[in-house]
Amino acid sequence: MSEIIGVVGAGTMGNGIAQVAARAGHEVVLRDVKDEFLERGMSAIDRSLQRDVDKERLKEEEKRAVVGRIRTTTELSDLARAAFVIEAITESLEAKREVFRALDEACGPEAILASNTSSISITKLGAATRRPDKVIGMHFMNPVPVMKLVEVIRGIATSDETWARTRELTGRMGKTALECNDSPGFVSNRVLMPMINEAVFALYEGVATRESIDGIMRLGMNHPMGPLTLADFIGLDVCLAILNVLHTELGDPKYRPCPLLKKYVDAGWLGRKSGRGFYEY
Ligand code: NAD
Repeated sequence: MSEIIGVVGAGTMGNGIAQVAARAGHEVVLRDVKDEFLERGMSAIDRSLQRDVDKERLKEEEKRAVVGRIRTTTELSDLARAAFVIEAITESLEAKREVFRALDEACGPEAILASNTSSISITKLGAATRRPDKVIGMHFMNPVPVMKLVEVIRGIATSDETWARTRELTGRMGKTALECNDSPGFVSNRVLMPMINEAVFALYEGVATRESIDGIMRLGMNHPMGPLTLADFIGLDVCLAILNVLHTELGDPKYRPCPLLKKYVDAGWLGRKSGRGFYEY
């Protein structure tokens, strides 16, 4: 079954989501606030698909067909016919609430409104609409075309039917949906961030060097990359923001961010994207 899928936000995650939805045969309407952001998103999609063409995993004409199924727009009203809208805009509660309010107005009554948020409450986003039963979290992992998991988050009012339709769409996109309830950090970040934080504490307290900490977790636990390398990849500012959410919302001191992590963020050492984090790039 092919449906129209709306994607709001053409950044890192949004263009990845648009790409996998179009590759699964769906018509996609991709919306951002400016044409230049849409163009940037479409070039990222083009580059990503071209890599598959170069590796002979995709035919040139298939690539053209995938790109041809994605329509870009700056008008939210162009999402009116979408059966499913996945929001992937900047991580801000106010901005997301506004988008959900507007989508609720613009979309048909049966449309499901999903958010790719990493930390914002799905229950709060549902409350911004008149259809909280049709609001759900679809937390894709980065890079979207590669990673198999979609962590699907049910808000307090999300219906069983919405979960079933979301699971089905996720499967059609070639991904696995795993369900969890709305709670700070969901499952992924609630488990991952304390591990990263503990690795930073180990470095801070001089328990081991960065290479040893990462090597022990890679070779001993079979992790594909060590926690400090992974933190640099995610962005130390993003890690700190998520730890702050866990700490504030769950109120348990076990989530307090390591002072060394704060200091690195204060210094502008944000990981790969700034050229320096726990490692130099
Ligand atoms: P990004 O900054 O790369 O992209 C955000 C895009 O949204 C930008 O192009 C911006 O112009 C656009 N935008 C902002 N307001 C908009 C609006 N009102 N309507 C339409 N477009 C709007 O961000 P990203 O890294 O793609 O993250 C997007 C979401 O995905 C966030 O909620 C983030 O927490 C979540 N997320 C990110 C990652 C990651 O690794 N980057 C992983 C999982 C989830």
